[in-house]
Amino acid sequence: CGIVGYVGRQPAAPILVEGLTRLEYRGYDSAGISVAGPHGQTVVRRVGRVRELEAALPKRLAGTVGIGHTRWATHGPATEANAHPHTSGDGRVSVVHNGIIDNAAALRDRLSREGVTFTSDTDTEVIAHLVARSTAPELEERVLESLEQVVGTYAIAVLDAEAPDRVVVARNGSPLIIGVGEREMFVASDVAALVRHTSSVVHLDDGELAVVTSRGYRTFTRETPDTGREPTTIETSD
Ligand code: GLU
Repeated sequence: CGIVGYVGRQPAAPILVEGLTRLEYRGYDSAGISVAGPHGQTVVRRVGRVRELEAALPKRLAGTVGIGHTRWATHGPATEANAHPHTSGDGRVSVVHNGIIDNAAALRDRLSREGVTFTSDTDTEVIAHLVARSTAPELEERVLESLEQVVGTYAIAVLDAEAPDRVVVARNGSPLIIGVGEREMFVASDVAALVRHTSSVVHLDDGELAVVTSRGYRTFTRETPDTGREPTTIETSD
């Protein structure tokens, strides 16, 4: 339902929580964040309100890269196990997703036969396993390779504890926006989560991905290594 992301030099958790709060008006049944830092990745999820998620966060959560989600369940009930972010078995990769993966059942069957153990009922979890199993060198290539196997609508944001300088995002039929800051970058499914931070935004097209770091971003597709999408300025009264 709602996606937020942050890459910068401030602790990510409060920024993610604030962004998710701004998306509450859209409705949701559970919420979660994952934050990566020098000591690995921390994932916290809760059924219910964003403030309950906030109350559950460890006091010291210093990572400066993270993703967050408010879920409106389509595949599986509103439980903590089904809340996003979803992680790979080794906990390295985490994914948040808006939309529906149409071939999730087939991908689940195949991955299960290959030895993957699933921990949720969601369609989303397949993406975390596909990315974790890809052998391409860069996270953005692993996400691209994974999405080539996926049929459906999505906006996703992906975090890899071993590449804690970036968030990779993709859009296909569900909105995804990058917010450009001063040596920090934001990601959201809705400008409402960005307006407090920046008025400079980049709208991804369907079929487009982006790798986002604190220093900038690169938009790309399967065919084009750099689609060169430029920021536009949003008018806001916020
Ligand atoms: N299909 C996913 C799920 O059921 C994402 C739902 C959403 O867009 O929030 O978990």
